[in-house]
Amino acid sequence: MTVPVGALVIGSTNAAIGLPAAMAVLRGGGSAMDAVVAGIRPVEANPDDHSVGYSGLPNLLGDVELDASVMDGRGLRSGAVGALRGYQDAIVLARAVMDELPHAFIAGDGARRLAAELGLSPRDLRTPEASAIWQRRIEGIDPSDDDLARARRLVSRVSRDPELPELPEPPHGTVNVIARDADGTIASGVSTSGWAWKYPGRLGDSPVVGAGNYADDRYGAAACTGRGEMALRCATAHSVVMFLRFGMDVDAALRTAVGDLNALDDPYASEVNIVAMDASGRHAAASTVPHKTYVWMDESTDAPVEASRHHVSAESQS
Ligand code: ASP
Repeated sequence: MTVPVGALVIGSTNAAIGLPAAMAVLRGGGSAMDAVVAGIRPVEANPDDHSVGYSGLPNLLGDVELDASVMDGRGLRSGAVGALRGYQDAIVLARAVMDELPHAFIAGDGARRLAAELGLSPRDLRTPEASAIWQRRIEGIDPSDDDLARARRLVSRVSRDPELPELPEPPHGTVNVIARDADGTIASGVSTSGWAWKYPGRLGDSPVVGAGNYADDRYGAAACTGRGEMALRCATAHSVVMFLRFGMDVDAALRTAVGDLNALDDPYASEVNIVAMDASGRHAAASTVPHKTYVWMDESTDAPVEASRHHVSAESQS
């Protein structure tokens, strides 16, 4: 049976700078979708976050390409943009795809065109800091490699780097925000610049409904960060919500989904992290790697609370 809770918002740890804005929307009686967008915009604008929006890390050719999606758990409406260049507001655009177009997913030149048509402000997304991080690893690559070999080598080095979880400048990342408003409507949003050095046009899990983002407020919502190719292959966000649907609690749903990720045959396997909330607002998060956290706020808190994610290792499941 559903236990009613008040308004609530959860997110990946880098969402902490946006959660107060999201919670302010909910406290003011705004919708879960308005809260999600309000929570993600400050992260997209944050020059110190090189995984999302402005100052995101560039692709193989040095261009920043953004992916984002939103999903409204009431009625399963969704919108997404992929490989967006030259505009920071990927989450606003994803929402516009949902609200303004008879479509669910716009990529590349079309996404850029839509941004211009909606009057969003164009911006050079590259910053000297992000370009320097990009440059440091590209310098170590054999100049005789073609683009395919460079993409393989860079992604494999980064994904296998044992220091990856500890790096002060992680070469990939994403922001997740899931909000539940006072009516019990749940919405979710995901925005990212994806993996640095990705092949141009590469889309990760973040803009793909079912992979990096899913909300159905009859059962709950989930969103992912990490190696998007793994979440794409496991339909991770949708799986978590289906596990909730078929009777698991949030912890069990997350552990089962991470178990599926750990079982993948993937020479580039890397971390994947999931945040999830059930229909009644119970929340938790999990990761394939240790020491990961997520953040949440509700009506009783004045600032984001950081909480541990479950670490589900491949060994613990064998
Ligand atoms: N999931 C994102 C992607 O694959 C990146 C990340 O969250 O680390 O594009």
